[in-house]
Amino acid sequence: MRELLITIDGPAGAGKSTISRMLADRLDYRYIDTGALYRAVALAADRIKLSGDEEDAVFEDLCRGLRIEFVREDQPAEKQTRLMLDREDITDQIRTPELTMLASKVSAKGPVRKFLLEVQRALGREKAAVFEGRDMGTVVFPEADLKFFLDASPEARARRRYEELKPFRSDLTCDMVLEEINRRDQNDSSRALSPLKPAVDAILIDSTALSPAGVVEKMLSFF
Ligand code: C5P
Repeated sequence: MRELLITIDGPAGAGKSTISRMLADRLDYRYIDTGALYRAVALAADRIKLSGDEEDAVFEDLCRGLRIEFVREDQPAEKQTRLMLDREDITDQIRTPELTMLASKVSAKGPVRKFLLEVQRALGREKAAVFEGRDMGTVVFPEADLKFFLDASPEARARRRYEELKPFRSDLTCDMVLEEINRRDQNDSSRALSPLKPAVDAILIDSTALSPAGVVEKMLSFF
C-alpha cells in the first residue's frame, strides 16, 4: 500500500493520543504528537516567567531562539520518542496541569502557531505518519490523505482524564477535570487562529461508547 499522511484532530480527552499511537503501531507509521510541541513552547515560556498574556512580539522573540525536535531512542516502544528542547530531554516535564493550561494559552499566539507550522510541515515531508493535534486536517496538512476528527461527550472525556490523573493527584475530583476540559475546549475552539473544528473532509468518529481497539478498527475500515 502507498504511504499515507493521516491526521487525527479532536478535543482534549477524546482518546487521540491512545488511538493515534495504536494506529501508527498497527501501520508501522511514525506517530507525531503535536500537542507536545505546544507544551514545549509553554515550558520555554514558563522558564522565563511568561504568563501567556504578553504581546505577540514577546512570543516572536521566544520562538526565534527555540529548537524543538523529536528524537528516537533505542528504548521500549513507550519511551522511544523523546522530545528535545535545545538538546534537553523535556519529555517527562511537559504533562503538568500548569503547563497544560499554559500550552492552551500560548497556542492562541500567532507567532507560536507560525513557528510550529514550519516545524510540523518539516516533520510531514516524510509520509507514513499519523499526526495528532487540533488543526492537522484544517491548517497544517489540508492535503492529508486521510483525516479523522475524534470526539466524545465532555463527561466521557473528563472521566478518562480523571482515571489517568487520579494515581498522581489524590485531591482531584471528576468535576474538577470536567471544568478544566470545558475551559480548555472553550479556549481551543473560540480562538481566532486555527480554532478546533473538523476539516470539511474529515471523517467524524465519536468514541464515547467505543473501546480504543474499536475506534482503530473503525478507522481502518476507511482505508
Ligand atoms: O494535545 P495536548 O493536550 O497535549 O495539547 C496541548 C494544547 O496545545 C491544547 O490545549 C491546544 O491548545 C494546543 N494545541 C494546538 N494545536 C495542536 C495541538 C495542540 O493548538 N495541533
